Amino acid sequence: MNKLAPNIDWKSYFTQVGYPGLSEVNIYQPSFMIELSNMMKNVPVADWKTFLRWQLINSTAGNLNKAFENQNFDFYYKTLSGQEKMEPRWKLILDMTSNSLGETIGQLYVKKYFPPAAKQKMTDLVMNLKKSLKQRIENLSWMGPQTKLEALAKLDKMGVKVGYPDKWRDYSGLVISSESYVRNVLSSQAFEFRYTMDKVGKPVDPTEWGMTPQTVNAYYNPFRNEIVFPAGILQPPFFNVDADDAVNYGAIGMVIGHEMTHGFDNLGRQFDKDGNLRDWWTKEDSKSFDAHADMIVEQYNHYEVLDSAFVNGKHTLGENIADLGGATVAFNAYKLSLEGKEAPNPIDGFTNFQRFFLSYAQIWRTNMRDEELRKRVKTDEHSPAKVRINGVVYNMPEFYAAFPDIKPGDKLFRAPEQRPVIW
Ligand SMILES: [Zn+2]
Repeated sequence: MNKLAPNIDWKSYFTQVGYPGLSEVNIYQPSFMIELSNMMKNVPVADWKTFLRWQLINSTAGNLNKAFENQNFDFYYKTLSGQEKMEPRWKLILDMTSNSLGETIGQLYVKKYFPPAAKQKMTDLVMNLKKSLKQRIENLSWMGPQTKLEALAKLDKMGVKVGYPDKWRDYSGLVISSESYVRNVLSSQAFEFRYTMDKVGKPVDPTEWGMTPQTVNAYYNPFRNEIVFPAGILQPPFFNVDADDAVNYGAIGMVIGHEMTHGFDNLGRQFDKDGNLRDWWTKEDSKSFDAHADMIVEQYNHYEVLDSAFVNGKHTLGENIADLGGATVAFNAYKLSLEGKEAPNPIDGFTNFQRFFLSYAQIWRTNMRDEELRKRVKTDEHSPAKVRINGVVYNMPEFYAAFPDIKPGDKLFRAPEQRPVIW
């Protein structure tokens, strides 16, 4: 670092932040460090002071007095996102507490809302999804036997976490007082910084979670090759112990499949079964993968969600692959779960396969202002909700079979040769 960015006194920096003994550093963005070092020399100290003062105010404005809070809301929420009214104080504070003391709130949440039966049912679903993806991989026509072996080994080794961590985090070093709200926020940020830095040089803790139990979301971690489903997502419309199987496979089944296929999307596929960055693909299979992925890029580039605001097919590729793979693998898993038995009776006039797709669409029901949508199309690696439905189902032969009235010439119809098949 001294060589790369010599205008910064690194020894003093690491001593000041409390870690003078670091022996190794991994620099993600060398070009940033080089430029920062140049600026240290070329920008006057007075300007740096102004800049840093501004950073401090800007990053804490939402937690300061009403005048700061209003200004912060006016720009970041009203102007950039179109939000008209600030959320009530109790919600804002609850969010902050949930972020700062995530696993303490999580323990309360799990006790109240996450029965052991839900964990069992979810674990069974994940196993069925694994079986389904295994079958899909075995039957892929574009992938050769050598790559398949590696893919299957990766799937087999993929870890699963459901609900909440086995071991809760210890927050006893965090200092909170009734003196000042913003100081508590800063104290919590400092606590997180130390928590992260204290991991340096120690073995990786495999029990650690990257989301709190109350989070309505899920993730795949390529470094550990594991999928994680917090308790928060295991409620309707994603998961309902009382709903019929078609509905659960269309919703949480799809989410499980989505996270699994992240292990094999354009980024995830670069890691092997142990989470190491290693290319396990034959040249030919890698090429076939890219050809199908390019079809998805092209398809999503054409979705105009607002006047002249288009989805960025390349930026959203990994998520779009995971959506298509997730829905396909979940549908196949649902079919496997019927074990050759006759399909259950229609409910409210909808067949079981139609209910699968209705349930899939229902998990994406959202309401968003145009400003927020415009911002997300530029920044979010997920496609907007509506595109996450239509972009996926019109690529699936199973969808046309479930709704046989959809015909060539219909607005969203895609001809078979336009439909990519990845998983
Ligand atoms: Zn995803």
